[in-house]
Amino acid sequence: MNKPIGVQEVLRKKRDYLIPCVYHFYENPMQLVRGQMQYLFDEQGKQYLDCFAGVSVMNCGHCNPAITDAIVKQVTTLQHTCTIYLTETIVNLAEKLAQIVPGRLQKSFFCASGSEANEGAALLASIYTGKHEFISLRQGLHGRTKLGMSLTGLSLWRTDTAPVGGISFAPNAYCYRCPMNKCYPECDLACANEVEAVVKTATSGQVAAMFAEPIQGNGGMITPPPGYFKRIKEILQQYGILLIVDEVQTGFGRTGKMFAIEHYATEPDIMTVAKALGNGTPVGAFIATPAIADTYTRPGASTLGGNPVTSAAALATLDYITTNKLVTRAETLGNQLKAGLLELQEKYPVIGDVRGLGLMLGAEIVHADKSPAPQKVDYILEKLKDNGFLIGKNGPNRNVLAFQPPLVITRENIDDLLTNLESTLKTVSN
Ligand code: PMP
Repeated sequence: MNKPIGVQEVLRKKRDYLIPCVYHFYENPMQLVRGQMQYLFDEQGKQYLDCFAGVSVMNCGHCNPAITDAIVKQVTTLQHTCTIYLTETIVNLAEKLAQIVPGRLQKSFFCASGSEANEGAALLASIYTGKHEFISLRQGLHGRTKLGMSLTGLSLWRTDTAPVGGISFAPNAYCYRCPMNKCYPECDLACANEVEAVVKTATSGQVAAMFAEPIQGNGGMITPPPGYFKRIKEILQQYGILLIVDEVQTGFGRTGKMFAIEHYATEPDIMTVAKALGNGTPVGAFIATPAIADTYTRPGASTLGGNPVTSAAALATLDYITTNKLVTRAETLGNQLKAGLLELQEKYPVIGDVRGLGLMLGAEIVHADKSPAPQKVDYILEKLKDNGFLIGKNGPNRNVLAFQPPLVITRENIDDLLTNLESTLKTVSN
């Protein structure tokens, strides 16, 4: 391995050669040079426990030998051809996905990112329904492309001042700060019911689909209450609107189910995936029921989407998740981490709310008056990093600590994380 160029030189080149929207965490950042399962190492050789997994990407850990072996084997045999030629990795991957996705979802189109998957899903929904408007949720995130950003309900990630039209936003299920000013369960899912009002009053009636993340990741680990998606689906069906579930951040075991929508026993019409599917290699997909998928017949190709290498990586990833029972592991270890966070919440009122499922958990950090405390979050992140733990932050006010570790993390790792978090919380408490 070449000698690392060092933090200052990375920062200089970044400043000189990357478009400044590419931002980074930490006041005193480190240069990461190596990864091994749940651990990352910086240029000084310091070890970090990765509790963010590159935002829910590295579910099977860094440089997992089972996956890197599959990549090396494929990259040294047949690296790329384009889908105009027949190869078998892409169809094997599509078949495997059909076996694990919920309901009647069956046919896939592969691309290279979550944003592309959502673009494709929107196009397919319009082809199938012949309609062109969309509904999305406040605080949702669906990508950085023109349409992806327009579907995004988080102003932080909506840089485009001329977004795509025909997109209406419904209130999200943010129970800690309910947009409807109600409380679950007395609310009778007022936020879900509001989708009907949005269809009736804010759209032309020509709505192709509604986009929703089952748990909003960047939105602050917003976890809808039971029954939420069932109610939404009922409303959508009444108006002939498809449900597109964005599992880009929640998919592949992260929440203690293979896909997070399974917690809500609701069948999506189209599902989008990326991130953890390739465990760090660029692969995304939209997957639809045959009835919907079969309406997209004009030629469509993605030069790199579903190429042999990323398909082989994804097949090895799915195999590793199943063989090593990572879905159950996420549930069990997620329960341990959540119980620990709830205990800390009792002791430290700076934690206003703990939410999420499996190993996709958030802790909202607040001042005594419940107002968001993003500076405290920045302090906690920096301190934990200095102590060797990398966690994330999200939410519209950037005041939610995000815990999304590789699913190969251990009980002992979680104990260490909680101990360190507590020692940091002692110094920031309200
Ligand atoms: N959807 C969700 C839910 C996401 O979290 C993200 C990325 N954070 C995207 C879509 C966009 O994915 P990508 O960055 O691969 O384009």
